[in-house]
Amino acid sequence: MGKAPTSATIRTYHVGFGDCFLISFGYSRKSEKHVLIDFGSTAFPKGVPKSRMMEIAENIKQRTGGKLHAVVATHRHRDHISGFATEKAGKGTGDVIRSLKPDLVVQPWTEDPKLGPKATGPGASNAKIKKFGTGTSEHIAALSLMHELAHQSLAARNLPKNLRGELGFLGESNIANPSAVKNLMTMAKNSYVYCGSKSGLEKMLPGVKIEVLGPPTLKQTDTIKRRRSRDPDEFWHFQVSATPLAAPADKARTTLFPRYVESRGFSHRINARWLIHHARTVRGEQLLQIVRMLDQEMNNTSVILLFQVGKKKLLFPGDAQIENWQYALGQKKYQSLLTSVNLYKVGHHGSLNATPKSLWKLFKNKSEGRTENRLLCLMSTMEGKHGSVSSQTEVPRSKLVRELRRQSDLFTTQQLRGKDFFHDIVVKF
Ligand SMILES: [Zn+2]
Repeated sequence: MGKAPTSATIRTYHVGFGDCFLISFGYSRKSEKHVLIDFGSTAFPKGVPKSRMMEIAENIKQRTGGKLHAVVATHRHRDHISGFATEKAGKGTGDVIRSLKPDLVVQPWTEDPKLGPKATGPGASNAKIKKFGTGTSEHIAALSLMHELAHQSLAARNLPKNLRGELGFLGESNIANPSAVKNLMTMAKNSYVYCGSKSGLEKMLPGVKIEVLGPPTLKQTDTIKRRRSRDPDEFWHFQVSATPLAAPADKARTTLFPRYVESRGFSHRINARWLIHHARTVRGEQLLQIVRMLDQEMNNTSVILLFQVGKKKLLFPGDAQIENWQYALGQKKYQSLLTSVNLYKVGHHGSLNATPKSLWKLFKNKSEGRTENRLLCLMSTMEGKHGSVSSQTEVPRSKLVRELRRQSDLFTTQQLRGKDFFHDIVVKF
């Protein structure tokens, strides 16, 4: 391992509802290595100019001096990748990022084109499928059909008023973003990662140890028994299953990447045919439940990265929910690494199910009073877009936010007003 960096500056961009973080590892006064983690948005607060995404892209260009070393796209949701979209005239925000010539793009294993339903590839893909577990092709097919379902749900008419808001929002964030996906696939070398795999970032970040904690492969998932997932202590609410709307989602939560869902009393394997059929026939609440479940499934493909320099640790879990976390949290070596996290990017914009309590309990740098090493938390979020207070599913979840404030130094993008659209935090190593 080469000479280690002496600091990292984490720039949190205000993308409304979405994520965008730039980590700049400082090696010497003139040498920095830049890693961009996500760049997407599905909504901005009122009054934010349309040019904001471009302002951010230009700011990334300026901050990196025209050279980005790596991009991490945690998962395929629009609020994490829309900024990578290109335009015909080459004037898209994704064109700016591409011009920074990253050497590597890190994505979850589920994005590997060799695994897709259309994979005609050589034996390599079959070997991979074997390695990742049975059902891999169907799983990838179901994920790509998510986009079709999102389209269908947005086009659905005669929906009850109370469902339109959430369905519209979930539909929007799940809608296909082909130019962003293609840009990520072609702008650099690709690294498709899973729990325990190499990230590919090691070579470009001397002195930084990087652990991939998620997502697990289906094979890894199959080793997890149905434990903890029904444990109400893991979530930042009470009895959400008591509310009729939440019940199906709760059921789906009993397995990672649920392969079966229940509808009208029948169990269905989630596959292409099933989805297309249901997207055409179901309406209203059922549609919302299916969209919600697949939305969670996509979140659970999030890459979870732990950066370590010396004794300092920075944790970036994307939108990983508890089902994604389960595999890593079940292993002693990861548990002990996680106890000493210094900076935590709050999972899934502060939603109730993305900071498992068993993870939160591990963080020993939490404290109610100020200490030298007090846990730092960064949260990118926007109230009023996702979930509802009445069902205790609002994002960010107020109960979690209170706990974050009580036990850590919390920065949330909602603190940024007016023309300010980013915030820097420096971690010294
Ligand atoms: Zn998100």
